[in-house]
Amino acid sequence: MPTTIDTFMSQIVAKNPAETEFHQAVHEVVESVMPLVESTPVYRKAKILERICEPERVLLFRVPWVDDRGEVQVNRGFRIEMSSAIGPYKGGLRFHPSVNLGILKFLAFEQVFKNSLTTLPMGGGKGGSDFDPKGKSDIEVMRFCQSFMSELFRHIGANTDVPAGDIGVGGREIGFLFGQYKKLRNEFTGVLTGKGLNWGGSLIRPEATGYGATYFAQEMLAVRGDGIKGKTVAVSGSGNVAQYTVEKVNQLGGKVVTLSDSDGTILDHDGIDAEKLAWVMELKNARRGRIREYLNKYKHAQYLEGKRPWGVNCALAFPSATQNEIDAADAKALVDNGCTCVSEGANMPTTPEGVNVFLKAKILYGPGKAANAGGVATSGLEMSQNAMHLNWTREEVDGRLQEIMKSIHRACVQHGKEKDFVNYVKGANVAGFIKVADAMLDQGVV
Ligand code: NAP
Repeated sequence: MPTTIDTFMSQIVAKNPAETEFHQAVHEVVESVMPLVESTPVYRKAKILERICEPERVLLFRVPWVDDRGEVQVNRGFRIEMSSAIGPYKGGLRFHPSVNLGILKFLAFEQVFKNSLTTLPMGGGKGGSDFDPKGKSDIEVMRFCQSFMSELFRHIGANTDVPAGDIGVGGREIGFLFGQYKKLRNEFTGVLTGKGLNWGGSLIRPEATGYGATYFAQEMLAVRGDGIKGKTVAVSGSGNVAQYTVEKVNQLGGKVVTLSDSDGTILDHDGIDAEKLAWVMELKNARRGRIREYLNKYKHAQYLEGKRPWGVNCALAFPSATQNEIDAADAKALVDNGCTCVSEGANMPTTPEGVNVFLKAKILYGPGKAANAGGVATSGLEMSQNAMHLNWTREEVDGRLQEIMKSIHRACVQHGKEKDFVNYVKGANVAGFIKVADAMLDQGVV
């Protein structure tokens, strides 16, 4: 006998074939919210769940550009405008060869609930391209960004849709995108977040996702009277989120022993301290090198070619690279090796089977849409500063970020508390859903 969830999912799969990551993200939310929807006739009657899974708008466009050899290249550009129920569409742009419609729809869908959790008025969106910035010159990246924005500019705006960075889109790319938008529109507005500090950016925005994931872990640990001090920590990835997770964990007295990229993992039992982190930041953000080069400088470390970090002994784990980077075997290895807390800096880094391992073991498991919401929350704070034409201090923004992470944690506990355990997956999904669903009810069938 198929359950209501099975029936709902079979319609999603039939309507969106081959979008496996989107199916995965929808299934996780539907599993959490279906009991609420079934017991709330107004939600059922207004078909809230059916509507929330259908993007308000999907834009798909050609991005032609000329490389340094004079050859024409053609990429594909996307923007998924998923929900504007509680504010302008908001969510990052990802430039990576793996980008496709299903991946961006999963990210846009997650973003709707995440943005709702932040307490700020932001709808959900996501976009990007299958363009690979790796190995490209700065000028090639600029030409690509200008071509990408030459189409995107007509669909976005400070009160309509406000993109930001994600994998492959950092300060350099946001600069080129903003420059082209300004040229085409002849206006200087907060249309993108993650901007440079001299031209409308917010202090703490680069740090926000990693810092936020660490603050969220701190909140989860506090429930059990525990903390980060003295803990051994595994971090995956070595980009923006990973770097600032290491910085905050170090500040709070933890010891990070791993970083990775898509080629492999470095393991440094002595810990990646502030000096080593500064070296990694130069490697990744300026020289754009590979994490294996860490061993050229720190010879005592080990390089685990083609491996992810999850086999090491650690008390805390911060997956901060990409989706589905922790499968059931990885999750089991983490639990068996004494990991008691996982705070997801990346979006959907754990497979459904992996999530079940964490929930069954009743460890502290903070899903991405709650744990990494500090990034978009600080983007929201950047939008507020832009709208008021002023800049807050580092302390002011960091203070607000910490308050937001605490409030997200409280909402997860409120909606996810079970007998002897907090199910943060359920808590985040239900809390994020209610606000958007109620706004949709108020606004009629649109
Ligand atoms: P980033 O600066 O581009 O870094 C991404 C890191 O992940 C790199 O080390 C990259 O290694 C690694 N990676 C990417 N794809 C991979 C794959 N298929 N397998 C293994 N490693 C892979 O991006 P980021 O901004 O840190 O984003 C990391 C994650 O956090 C993503 O899931 C993103 O959606 C999420 N997130 C980011 C923000 C934000 O504010 N930036 C906010 C919320 C969530 P390579 O160099 O080898 O590709």
